[in-house]
Amino acid sequence: MAKYIFVTGGVTSSLGKGIIAASLAKLLQSRGFKVTIQKFDPYINVDPGTLNPYEHGECFVTEDGAETDLDLGHYERFLNIHTSQANNVTTGRIYQTVINKEREGAYLGKTVQVVPHITDEIKRRMLLLGKDGKYDIVITEIGGTVGDIESLPFVEAVRQIQWELPEEDCLVVHLTLIPYLKAAKELKTKPTQHSVRLLSQEGVHPDIIVCRTERPLSTEIRRKIALFCNVKPEAVIEASDASTIYEVPLFMLKEKLDVICLKKLNVTIFPEPDLENWKKFIDKLKYPKGQVNIGLIGKYIELQDAYKSILESFIHAGAINECKVNVVNVHSEFITDQNVGEKLAGLDGLLVAPGFGNRGIEGKITAIKYARENGLPFFGICLGMQMACVEFARNVLGLKDAHSFEMNAETPDPVIDMMEEQKKITNKGGTMRLGSYPCDIKEGTLAEKIYGSLHINERHRHRYEFNNKYMEAFEQAGMIPSGKNPETGLVEIIENPKHPFFIGVQYHPELKSTVESPAPLFVHFIKAAKEYSEKQQSVKNPLLESEMI
Ligand code: GLN
Repeated sequence: MAKYIFVTGGVTSSLGKGIIAASLAKLLQSRGFKVTIQKFDPYINVDPGTLNPYEHGECFVTEDGAETDLDLGHYERFLNIHTSQANNVTTGRIYQTVINKEREGAYLGKTVQVVPHITDEIKRRMLLLGKDGKYDIVITEIGGTVGDIESLPFVEAVRQIQWELPEEDCLVVHLTLIPYLKAAKELKTKPTQHSVRLLSQEGVHPDIIVCRTERPLSTEIRRKIALFCNVKPEAVIEASDASTIYEVPLFMLKEKLDVICLKKLNVTIFPEPDLENWKKFIDKLKYPKGQVNIGLIGKYIELQDAYKSILESFIHAGAINECKVNVVNVHSEFITDQNVGEKLAGLDGLLVAPGFGNRGIEGKITAIKYARENGLPFFGICLGMQMACVEFARNVLGLKDAHSFEMNAETPDPVIDMMEEQKKITNKGGTMRLGSYPCDIKEGTLAEKIYGSLHINERHRHRYEFNNKYMEAFEQAGMIPSGKNPETGLVEIIENPKHPFFIGVQYHPELKSTVESPAPLFVHFIKAAKEYSEKQQSVKNPLLESEMI
């Protein structure tokens, strides 16, 4: 049987519970334990797939095609493991299961209630991943903030699990905020005291308190928190602001968060952590040798969380290239034929992001045309790839009104069309082509060079696809379908061999990029951007080149 660690949050949201949970998991993993993390979200949506990115940030897709919370992305990037549908559960999913069972008559005439029926279903799912011996430790992050009405059943489930399991098999970590009051020049512990009291009123007493703080916690403050919150002083952990989220595991190691957890779980023998590679990665990240400017074009660029996995993939790829990646947000709505050169000036690469709907679409197409014609490294993901096809059809094949069926259902040339199986679907939730699918790569292409393989698997989230009726015309004009699904022939990768780096993919490589294994497409895109930048420098300053010779 696995041991269970629950992570709750208090005082305010956005304290970075996911990062703390992932960091703890990383430390335990680095000491040789088999660890997984799951997240329980208290909202009624069955999954975040139907949520606007402005509401909830990026929707992360797992191998098995679950549309999940973006924290699962952090778990995968930190731990280099795959999560699944079982790792993200919402109130909506819990109620759906219970209501379906009620309709089947499974409750034999009983009144179905929050306690015990909803809490039983929460408990069943909380314990599920620890059942088959695959993991030593299961970490469960409870979304929301303690005291919220909607998180009550989850806290109650944790209370019951604590009561049911042997004491050494389960513990609760509570993450809070210790604000600094400038006027008083003091760190304040009262909000933490209140939040622990709230949690205690709900029947759960935290074993460890992790304090987010802008200033170091003095021994005195630690003792005060410990005393008023009824934990041992060593169980008060300082989580100060880090320059990168990837440093948080090292901060937590210094604070002995993992050792305190293991002690409470009655695990007394464990090896020293092996964090060699992790530290090397951080060194490369913190001390880059050069930099590139990458333009990111998307609909939600004001919101960092909307493209979380893409931004993290750039960090992984930058580190391996020993190069800082400055991501420049480009609003496509304001790009026109006249100003495109000016808008994209100074960029060493252009990434057109995934997305849905019409807003800013013409600007994206104009930017892609510029990148294609000017040798600017281009990388299109999902909608970005689809728009690269539209651009090529319009400006190279001369199909002036070509478009994606998604944007214009009346277009005479739907070079991007709705997938056949999507045509019968009416429900929006969980019905796209989701999850991992194989892709066969054509020999001798850029894609082969990037992956070093002819067979890959990548994750998807889309309803539209390249229309194979146009394949021959595309190939003849120099846009090559270099990756295809082996069963359906669906075009997964397009590339332009006449260009130094022009590639579009129907799938989402950002979803599989981790610290230990950065996504090859991002690594090569940054490499191409570096080369482009060096070339630009030498054009600007020919002396540089001759000096190099
Ligand atoms: N809207 C496009 C589709 O559904 C692209 C989706 C995406 O970029 N994830 O096919």
